[in-house]
Amino acid sequence: MADHAPGAAEDVGALFPPEPAPDAAMIEAGRLLFAQECRFVAAAADESGLPPDTLPEVAILGRSNVGKSSLVNALTGRAALARVSHAPGRTRQIIFFELRRLMLADLPGYGFASAPKEEIKRWSRFVPFYVRGRAALKRTLVLIDARHGLMRADRDFMEMLDKAAVSYQIVLTKRDKVAPAELAARLEQIASELKSHVAAHPQLHVTSAHKGLGIAELRATLAALAAPPDAR
Ligand code: GDP
Repeated sequence: MADHAPGAAEDVGALFPPEPAPDAAMIEAGRLLFAQECRFVAAAADESGLPPDTLPEVAILGRSNVGKSSLVNALTGRAALARVSHAPGRTRQIIFFELRRLMLADLPGYGFASAPKEEIKRWSRFVPFYVRGRAALKRTLVLIDARHGLMRADRDFMEMLDKAAVSYQIVLTKRDKVAPAELAARLEQIASELKSHVAAHPQLHVTSAHKGLGIAELRATLAALAAPPDAR
């Protein structure tokens, strides 16, 4: 599929619906948050590995290959950060990174094509346990490939979050891969479907890690969920 230059997609905003867009102060708060040290805290394969939930937390997940590592790298500006969760054959773990005022929890992609049965069982229990029981979890970012839209595994996960009353927000990835008209139609379709999901945030983020699109806006959203600057 052809690449679409940033300018070609300018008619579709980084947030959808576009109101309220973050103002300059919110964008700056996001920039400052992500300019801080980003520290690896823990890798949890089960309940016993979870770090204390002392900071507001945001979980990030999506199907394998959705562009999660690229997005985490674009947000933090540190290419090595997401790599740890990416090594093939590695036990599935939630990777926790601390940005001083916010914890990021990076969940491995759902979809288990080649995982051993025991691993699938363990993980299928652990993720719902984590999202339901994590008091500090402010929001879950559900990453969706802009080319494909919502798929069955995404809907299953969203339903689980709805039942657990855990707030989540859709983040479209790879915006640069989709023509503006197709993107606009996809956004309308997803926004309309979200109306029946009780825990879904009505606003979608539209990003391209490769072109740096929508990253500042997503940082601003995350900064609004972080602990106040004087909390530590
Ligand atoms: P993960 O498996 O979800 O962590 O996905 P990765 O970040 O490893 O990305 C999967 C593939 O999608 C890689 O080939 C990336 O280069 C590509 N990709 C990720 N983000 C973007 C993007 O914003 N634009 C484009 N065109 N490709 C992307």
